Amino acid sequence: MGIKNRESYVGQPVHLVLPPPVLRPVLWPSDFDLVVIGGGSGGLACAKEAAELGKKVAVLDYVEPSPRGTKWGLGGTCVNVGCVPKKLMHQAALLGGAIRDARYYGWNVVGPVRHDCKMAQAIQNYVKSLNWGHRVQLQDRKVKYFNMKGSFVDEHTVRGLTKDGEETLITGEHVVIATGGRPRYPAHIRGAVEHGITSDDLFWLKESPGKTFLRVLGWGIRTSPSLALQQMSLLVKESMASLGTRFLEQCTPTDVEKLPDARLRVTWTDGRSGGRGTDDFDTVLWAVGRAPETKALNLREVGVELNPSSRKIIVDAGETTSLPHVYAIGDVAEGRPELTPTAIAAGRLLARRLFARSSELMDYDNVPTTVFTPLEYGCVGLSEERAAERYGEENIEVFHAYYKPLEFTVADRDASQCYVKMVCLQERDLKIVGLHFVGPHAGEVIQGFALGIKCGATYAQLMQTAGIHPTCAEEVTKLRITKRSGLDATVTGC
Ligand SMILES: Cc1cc2nc3c(=O)[nH]c(=O)nc-3n(C[C@H](O)[C@H](O)[C@H](O)COP(=O)(O)OP(=O)(O)OC[C@H]3O[C@@H](n4cnc5c(N)ncnc54)[C@H](O)[C@@H]3O)c2cc1C
Repeated sequence: MGIKNRESYVGQPVHLVLPPPVLRPVLWPSDFDLVVIGGGSGGLACAKEAAELGKKVAVLDYVEPSPRGTKWGLGGTCVNVGCVPKKLMHQAALLGGAIRDARYYGWNVVGPVRHDCKMAQAIQNYVKSLNWGHRVQLQDRKVKYFNMKGSFVDEHTVRGLTKDGEETLITGEHVVIATGGRPRYPAHIRGAVEHGITSDDLFWLKESPGKTFLRVLGWGIRTSPSLALQQMSLLVKESMASLGTRFLEQCTPTDVEKLPDARLRVTWTDGRSGGRGTDDFDTVLWAVGRAPETKALNLREVGVELNPSSRKIIVDAGETTSLPHVYAIGDVAEGRPELTPTAIAAGRLLARRLFARSSELMDYDNVPTTVFTPLEYGCVGLSEERAAERYGEENIEVFHAYYKPLEFTVADRDASQCYVKMVCLQERDLKIVGLHFVGPHAGEVIQGFALGIKCGATYAQLMQTAGIHPTCAEEVTKLRITKRSGLDATVTGC
């Protein structure tokens, strides 16, 4: 497989070179109500909703293989190389922890317990079943699926190109761009593209990645950029360090070199000492951010405006681009959270506005999310820093607690990073504007509180809410200590 020269990858996802197109006659009449480019979370949701509203819909989805040659089926990032395999691997890791705990709870776990590559196969099989499910759902709704790479010819016409270079022209009254993003490579680092992998490859490996060098931007915590996470990310980092992750702080890799035994030697510069360091790894994984998939769409030529720095598509509150009947949803759209539920909801609402006389807009405020690190971090609303910026430090009240999950006690687990923080406005009954939770099942904990916060819940109402005892979520209902008080926030007793 041909890979372009290294320099051309700087700051961009890497694409393979396609053969020149073989022009074929138009196969489909230009009469779709809706053409969707990108069959991921947002695109599929939009297409299915429009089809259920009786519209004639086409979806183009095409996966450009990663530089390693990894490719996958219909469903986009979440299903194939994102949320789904990530959460299943997270579950595998949690089970490892549960096996360790089990001995304390009286289980006779005999001998060394090993993990093997059955996990990868099982997860990949499940993902393939989801790919198939998506195809069936499109078929059932009579959505025309093109396994083709789309680009604009004009504002109503999309050129679809198969992997063999066959071309089809597809026209639509409305066109939705839902092409998502792909991982970036730090191509200025020698050997980065040749020897490193990204999340696009990680979930499709046949074997364990072994000892891994992980280069992350910031702390590598995938979350909405609107959430500044200083205190919480430190807790997550401390917890990972306590479980054996070695953090090379302020170190920047410069070279990745393949050794005769197939291991990878990484060299880095140490920002603090100015010196250099080196070590050998089985895998080098780049997690330095994602770039929107806008390059191949011919957007500039048809007049769809991009943010020049992010390369994302500029949209208004109704997801409309600079062209009135062209829309962008999900990760490819400027200023949107890079999350599946928001892409899905945006797609559905857009279809209803286009074809069911709805005027409901997607509300991007108070979107909850969770980072599935070994000790999870979930949040909704504003961070403490953002709330202070927006309302002034003197106008916010922050309640917090360090708690110990009951399950950790018998198993003698370290709970020093289990923490909950609630950000409230000083006014009236202390309206809650942010909730942050580090601990087990953070996603499950935050989800319900997200509804309360969306409905304008106050601290006073929270104090009237009975906890469910004994759970981690009840710690939220027990928050009494303010940060301002300086009192010890460690929870003792029930
Ligand atoms: C490792 C990882 C973990 C994640 N975990 C979570 C999580 O736990 N929870 C969560 O909510 N979100 C998570 N996300 C984010 C989530 O996956 C994305 O926000 C979501 O998939 C975005 O949906 P989308 O429709 O915008 O794009 P995508 O799902 O990326 O779909 C875009 C589709 O368009 C295709 N495409 C691109 N260009 C073209 C073209 N020119 N023609 C035709 N097809 C094209 C792509 O191949 C892809 O299939 C995670 C992401 C990653 C990378």
